[in-house]
Amino acid sequence: MVDLMEKIVSLSKRRGFVFPSSEIYGGFGSCYDFGPLGVELKNNIKKVWWNEMTKRHDDIVGLDASILMSPKVWKASGHLTAGFADELVECKKCHKRDRWDFVLARAFPGKVFIDKPENFKKQVIKYEIKCDCGGEWMEPKKFNLMMKTFVGPVEDEASVTYLRPETCQGIYTNFKNILQTMRMKIPFGVAQIGKAFRNEINPKDFIYRTREFEQMEMQWFCEPKTSPKFFNYWKKERINWYLSLGIRKQNLRAKEVPKNELPHYAKRAIDIEYKFPFGWKEIEGIHNRGDWDLSNHSKHSGEDLKYDPSTGSGQGYFPHVIETSVGVDRSLFAFLCDAYQEVKGGRTKTTKSAKELEVLLKLDKSLAPVKAAVLPLVKNKPELVKKAKQVYKLLKPNFVCLYDETGSIGRRYRRQDETGTLFCITVDFDSLKKDDVTVRNRDTMKQKRIKIKDLVEEINKKLK
Ligand code: ATP
Repeated sequence: MVDLMEKIVSLSKRRGFVFPSSEIYGGFGSCYDFGPLGVELKNNIKKVWWNEMTKRHDDIVGLDASILMSPKVWKASGHLTAGFADELVECKKCHKRDRWDFVLARAFPGKVFIDKPENFKKQVIKYEIKCDCGGEWMEPKKFNLMMKTFVGPVEDEASVTYLRPETCQGIYTNFKNILQTMRMKIPFGVAQIGKAFRNEINPKDFIYRTREFEQMEMQWFCEPKTSPKFFNYWKKERINWYLSLGIRKQNLRAKEVPKNELPHYAKRAIDIEYKFPFGWKEIEGIHNRGDWDLSNHSKHSGEDLKYDPSTGSGQGYFPHVIETSVGVDRSLFAFLCDAYQEVKGGRTKTTKSAKELEVLLKLDKSLAPVKAAVLPLVKNKPELVKKAKQVYKLLKPNFVCLYDETGSIGRRYRRQDETGTLFCITVDFDSLKKDDVTVRNRDTMKQKRIKIKDLVEEINKKLK
């Protein structure tokens, strides 16, 4: 399975999905850049999520709040106090640093610990947990994950603020604005996609845990007594979203977060986990945040953020919030892992031996970065190249398209299969006479001749 991880990382680099950031300087702190195909895949994931939230569901509106916010926001939300901190341990011998809960999880997979510093000595003595180098761990220290920065030219305490560690706070601070401008009635939701930053102690596993990432979050405001019902509703909806995009059922599960591991704002939480090559890991959190955020922002800002059912604002009650929060990067990684297939002996005639493997990236049609590749049968016949370029020009304004004339046709099919391209459109000698092309379907490998004038409509039909 570790093997799969290496294959995905290698494919991502080789075919332009993900590059290490600042690579020419040796990379930088687990940051990554999304290449030409990566950005298309990422945009598709965001588009599908946005449509799911704002089009398929009623009463969800969008927002794009700023990354930098008043530091008062983070005080009110609890992120500046102990709430948003991990426990950091350092090895006395090799000085390696790690998250204490990771050390425990590695030492005792599946066991739930009461992760408090005062229990440190007991846990270490009882289980004799040591660093890989044999050294002892120092006492864990609280480490706040927020990234500090300064606003304006003077770097003093008064100008300190933070890069947001989650996108949702902008939704709470705009609660009243949205309520009033859109005349929303509870229950309703606000969806947002944007960057978030966390100074992770131990970023790892490729794009799974990074310090800069993107989140797609939806906050559902509802009457307090209806929050358990909506929690279950959103849990189901979100699991179905992954399944509808082709994630295999056996690779997805929902895990109830034990009470002692709940984030500071949550009354209840479920992690939607994906079976990555390195184990079951969270890709999305569903949280019942109760009235934690609205009541705290009300208290700290002095603004009344209660909801009045009769007027839509003013006196009344604090709605409860069900949050669905998914990482774009983590879900992209899960989609890549799930779509990756190897076909022994090959799918195309260019495969030389029965042992040789051909890679197929079976991404859902809505996610596939490239919808069609236009391929002249050979590149040394100017009339074929000219015709193929005309077809490419015709398709390009309609879908993400590639033109490829390098190598044998079989090799070019393989290249496109490897990145999940849905249709390979070949321009051959018959195309010159009949004004048609062959369209090869990625999944069935069936080829069909289609008139060039009907191509856009036919592909559009298949993409629906
Ligand atoms: P973890 O326990 O893995 O640190 P979390 O429970 O702190 O994650 P949430 O605060 O619930 O995560 O964030 C919601 C989603 O944001 C996560 O499910 C994940 O998809 C994404 N996310 C959070 N932290 C990171 C990160 N460091 N890198 C990439 N994605 C992240």
